[in-house]
Amino acid sequence: MTPHLAYKPKNIWEHADAKTRNNMAALAQRYMDFLTRCKTERETVAHVRQRLLDNGYQEDFGTDRVFRCLRGKALFAARRGRVPLDKGLALVAAHADSPRLDFKQRPIVEQACVAQAKTHYYGGIRKYQWLARPLALHGVVVRESGEVLPVVLGEETDEPVFCIADLLPHLAQQQVKQPVSEAFDAEKLNVILAHSCQQKSGDKDEEKETKDPVKTRLLELLHEKYGLTEEDFITAELQAVPVGPARLVGFDGSLVGAYGQDDRICVFTALEAMLEAEAAGRSMALMIWDKEEIGSDGATGASSRFLQYCMEDLVRAWCPGVPPSHVLLESRALSADVNGALDPDYQDVHEKQNAALLGYGPVFCKYTGSRGKYGANDADAEFFGELRGLLNARAIAWQAAELGKVDHGGGGTVALFLAAYGMRVIDLGPSLLSMHSPFELASIADVYATKQAYQAFFEAPVQQN
Ligand code: MN
Ligand code: MN
Repeated sequence: MTPHLAYKPKNIWEHADAKTRNNMAALAQRYMDFLTRCKTERETVAHVRQRLLDNGYQEDFGTDRVFRCLRGKALFAARRGRVPLDKGLALVAAHADSPRLDFKQRPIVEQACVAQAKTHYYGGIRKYQWLARPLALHGVVVRESGEVLPVVLGEETDEPVFCIADLLPHLAQQQVKQPVSEAFDAEKLNVILAHSCQQKSGDKDEEKETKDPVKTRLLELLHEKYGLTEEDFITAELQAVPVGPARLVGFDGSLVGAYGQDDRICVFTALEAMLEAEAAGRSMALMIWDKEEIGSDGATGASSRFLQYCMEDLVRAWCPGVPPSHVLLESRALSADVNGALDPDYQDVHEKQNAALLGYGPVFCKYTGSRGKYGANDADAEFFGELRGLLNARAIAWQAAELGKVDHGGGGTVALFLAAYGMRVIDLGPSLLSMHSPFELASIADVYATKQAYQAFFEAPVQQN
């Protein structure tokens, strides 16, 4: 057969028979259920931990299926393969945090008969997208005693939600002339918490106005309902996130619309792949990090030593005597993160030949960074070639893309933190529309193909030289 001389990426839909389409739809349902349950890094790690436990994974590294959590926000899991660990791991690393609005440590204020929570946004948001939409509250409050009160409020239809009010168009004539970067002030991203105050008893003593009557009433209510005081908010992590379940989008139900798909789409597909993969090649590992959206710093972020410590313990348990640095150097990794799909309405920010398309499979991104690849992990062509052969052999759709036109912006992933160990690493993950928005869109064909690609990576044969 003559080889194809010109390259053209493959549209998954064009090659998907009825059975494949059913499989895509079934996986999409499970994916949506996962997204609906997991809206924070803590919820995601707790969910993954439970699924690992259900599948026989243990915290004891002496067994063949192991995992370890850090602070409930990062998770390492590994599964022994057929090939000894000194050939390195097949590692897929994703992140569980998403852009959102965090409550400040002293959040509650009262202005104009309304009690609000001051917020500090987390990660790259477009501030106007968070106005005038229902928000739920997720997180934890830690009491003085150390007791942790988990919070999920606003997701059930009989629970109240929260909201940031937006300016009415009638009075926005000055604002609409401002650049977007100036029109929306982060200090105005205040979440409405309450509006009522106590009934006046009519006593003469009460003639003096209570200062902040709405806040006073709110604090009473929070104490009655949850036993909370204002000081408890100082030791809390409360995140305002979009309300509601993930939904299918379009007449054909071909897209998933939901908050937090960057990067829980990769957490989900990588977990599914690892649980289903045949242990045929290298030992497999899944790394879920936090803090990616704010630069990967912090104990639970990718720049921490957590992965290294887990690897050291794993090597001690699975192949004692081998230096952990050798295993890290021999490892192969996918930095599993999303890419921006070619936006039908803003095509001019992309360079089309090197832009990702929805429905064309997961996207290899050889390098991220910006302004002349600054800050990039530029994956080696040899590793990329190996993966290309692997996916082609299984007829799994994939594409190669950059994030936008050169010098139009850019972004980073956890790839460079893995590359720091000397391991082979490349970015591979699905593309999204409306990335970082409260309702991101992914193709169900890409969800399916991404899971297949990660599974192929986990099952890759190893050349025993
Ligand atoms: Mn990401
Ligand atoms: Mn992101």
